[in-house]
Amino acid sequence: MMLRTLKTIIFTCAMTFLTAATGLAGATVKQLADNVYMMSEFHYTSLVVVGEDGVLITDPAFPGRAQLLKRAIADITDKPVTRIVLSHEHYDHVGGTGVFPEAQVICHAACQTVFDLDVGGVVPEKVDVTFTDSLRVDFRGPPVNLHYYGPGDGFASIVVHLPEERVAFTADLYEDHALTPGKWMDDSNYLAILRVLKELQKKNLRHAVNAHSEDASVTIVDENVKFMSDLFNVVNGEIRKAMEAGGPMQVMTSIKKWQHDLKLPQYADWEGYDEHLPAHVRRMAYSIFHGG
Ligand SMILES: [Zn+2]
Repeated sequence: MMLRTLKTIIFTCAMTFLTAATGLAGATVKQLADNVYMMSEFHYTSLVVVGEDGVLITDPAFPGRAQLLKRAIADITDKPVTRIVLSHEHYDHVGGTGVFPEAQVICHAACQTVFDLDVGGVVPEKVDVTFTDSLRVDFRGPPVNLHYYGPGDGFASIVVHLPEERVAFTADLYEDHALTPGKWMDDSNYLAILRVLKELQKKNLRHAVNAHSEDASVTIVDENVKFMSDLFNVVNGEIRKAMEAGGPMQVMTSIKKWQHDLKLPQYADWEGYDEHLPAHVRRMAYSIFHGG
């Protein structure tokens, strides 16, 4: 689920060649705490955590970006990347692991079922460590805990949490003052995403790193919880009324109408509001009514 994905892919392909040819592009690096950084290139942001003898990163995304990330990491430490944590199973996040041959690849156990379906050769050659509920990544660095709270974007979405630094990393669960185009949400359960964001809120974070943003402000999570809760209340209210009036068939036939009629004017200044709100109404309706 990405707002600017198509643009990003085109830009990414162009920049990958340009970078290879000129070495011009670089990463935007922000330090979040001692030994903890966020590094952004090509509309993807990775968390980078430096341990005593190795570095942990999230989502290299694709080989060209992974090369840039490697270069940016070399500017802050000479230690190799030894752990790669994948945020979820979607292919645009999981490529480029081969750029770090010394690294263990870690993801939720359900990732492999989707990796097995890859016909484009973009997924990791092998996954070294999987987990189902939670995992403490031991790499002689700051404590890094991985949590699975259920589906989110896809069904293997996890939260990467550094409890001491109060930093978390997630991917494709929310945007910054923007509505994700519906086509990127077909694989998302809205209620599940809301649950994950509420778990983030409980962690009293200082930084909430989002895989497609350079802004790690925690207030963005709060704003999205508010948006998704408001959307839930409006859509669920209509579903309850329709169930009472005509049962499931009435809900089914009403969803199309709700897409056009239901509004949340308090979010009208969010990017993509006019164009994409109908898709969000639809996705919320099916998440409530159908469970997916
Ligand atoms: Zn995704």
